Amino acid sequence: MGEVRLRLDRERWREHLGVVMRSAPGLVPVIKGNGYGFGRARLATEAAALGVDTVAVGVAKEVKRVRRYFDGDIVILQPWDAADDEAHACLADPKVITTVSRLADLDAIADSDLEPRVLVEVQTSMRRHGIRLDHLGAVTPLLQRVRFEGWSLHLPLRVEGRYAEAQALTRAAVAVIPGTLWLSHLPPDEASQLAAQAGAEPVGVRLRMGTRLWLGAKMHRQTVATVLDVHPVRRGERAGSVATGSLEAAGLALSPYTINGKKRWFLEPPHMQSSQVFLPRTETPPAIGDEVPVELRLTTANVDSVAWDL
Ligand SMILES: *Cc1c(COP(=O)(O)O)cnc(C)c1O
Repeated sequence: MGEVRLRLDRERWREHLGVVMRSAPGLVPVIKGNGYGFGRARLATEAAALGVDTVAVGVAKEVKRVRRYFDGDIVILQPWDAADDEAHACLADPKVITTVSRLADLDAIADSDLEPRVLVEVQTSMRRHGIRLDHLGAVTPLLQRVRFEGWSLHLPLRVEGRYAEAQALTRAAVAVIPGTLWLSHLPPDEASQLAAQAGAEPVGVRLRMGTRLWLGAKMHRQTVATVLDVHPVRRGERAGSVATGSLEAAGLALSPYTINGKKRWFLEPPHMQSSQVFLPRTETPPAIGDEVPVELRLTTANVDSVAWDL
């Protein structure tokens, strides 16, 4: 098995993107890391075609990569870090919105005289980043020297108790100062409801979404690997790192490759550019150059190529 390709039915994928976008007003597509298997450049181009005004990247150094393809506002999700030079440089960019998760950082940023655009992150039960609820009061005076763009909440993926938590946090934040709610991992209707009920007046809402937007429609894509070579092996002959016929005993790992409807065993640990799998004699082997389905986690995999013609 060799090159891995992501095959996509582009028209149907774009239909799906349009449906998700219409279902979530103010959607902010997230473009980060490996670009959800598609690559950041491709996603930034698609986001521009969708007509969104804002996208989100993971870290400051991704801003430049996305900027080449997307001309609107870019939010940096990773909270500002004083040690990150790129994050410093981004403060001066009027089209970049910086997320701040510590009072000391907000103070430092406010002192910069750059009047950067900022989101203030509120700590959620994920306890990952954010200003604690009981410290939010200290935020107000610091916002005078920045452009406050709203509150950021990164809610846990689990559903149980999430809405109640989001409601308590957004109400507390909006009571400190009204601002748009930038939310993750909530259904669009819950997000709108939160924004409508956060304070005396409704506030705006921006829903950040990656996986469900880019990878939400499985039937529109397929990941395949190319067959590089096919070798007949007699029983007992060595192939890969084992003698065939002793597959179970050798404790082989199941591969992600499907041939004739079944996942097949690796003959040896996979290499960077090729892997060997075993097919019993009773099975008709694929031909060299054929493509076989391969199961991948697209949020972490780097495919060799993307083809727009499933
Ligand atoms: C990565 C990230 C997202 C997107 O997550 P998905 O599960 O891919 O939708 C949303 N919000 C924040 C803060 C993130 O870091």
